[in-house]
Amino acid sequence: MPGKDSRAVGGATGKTSYDAIVFDLDGTLYRGDAAIPGAPEAVTALREFGRCLFLSNNGECTSPTLARRLIKLGFDVRESEVTSSADLVVKRLEAEKPGARVLGLVSAELARTLEAHGFEVADDSRVDFVAVGVDRELTRRRLVLGLEAMLGGAALVATNEDPTYPGEKGIRPAAGAYVGFFRGMGFEPAWRCGKPDVGAVESALRAWGLPRDGRYLFVGDNLHSDITAAERMGAESALVLSGVAREADLEKHAVRPTVVVDDVARLAELLERNGGDVRGGRGRTSAHAKSARGEV
Ligand SMILES: [Mg+2]
Repeated sequence: MPGKDSRAVGGATGKTSYDAIVFDLDGTLYRGDAAIPGAPEAVTALREFGRCLFLSNNGECTSPTLARRLIKLGFDVRESEVTSSADLVVKRLEAEKPGARVLGLVSAELARTLEAHGFEVADDSRVDFVAVGVDRELTRRRLVLGLEAMLGGAALVATNEDPTYPGEKGIRPAAGAYVGFFRGMGFEPAWRCGKPDVGAVESALRAWGLPRDGRYLFVGDNLHSDITAAERMGAESALVLSGVAREADLEKHAVRPTVVVDDVARLAELLERNGGDVRGGRGRTSAHAKSARGEV
């Protein structure tokens, strides 16, 4: 539906744009403590084609921490443009029951943030919610409290269900591993506050003042989270090969990005060349992009 939801910006330049370009962080803009080469400049260049926003499945860190990290790595971003799974847990619980008692099997930063937002972070099982994410200090005692809380009727809220993440010293267990303890005991999360959950993405868009049915481009390195989120939202997507996904993974996965590029620098070049539109664009692996749209 060309033209339906695109709009001209930049006056005489006539460039089409997105309501927002929503970037993943890890593996997309940085790896460990280094920016992916060319990424800071690419984000600046991509602002010409839409609001640039940053949505991370990081459930340990909140937006101030992630914004500081991005700025330190050379990205020109504002804190208000960044949202993480940890932030979305706080938003979800605020929507459900402000001031509730919460057992947090989560990072110290998320626990502190919950307290700062008026929640009572408990060390017992008489709670309304069990929040679960990456908890580096998890003990059997805390797990027992979690079980007792669930048996007592608490609702389980997960930062996300990513199985693993690339840590500085190698692949590490992500929130999905911790959710697995609860699933193993027979409990499912009532809410997941990260990609590919549509409710989580909608919550982030709402906080940014954006409509559900806007025109969005999701950019990420993970087929399971970033590209699946885009597909569920009916949005366009760019898979970057600078993180976890490899080209060969496309053969094994049902979800298809709109375009595949080596990295965000290549994405910026593609949009520039293509008048601000990835559709019909020629990324590094255009055959995949074409098949994604059913054209081959
Ligand atoms: Mg990533």
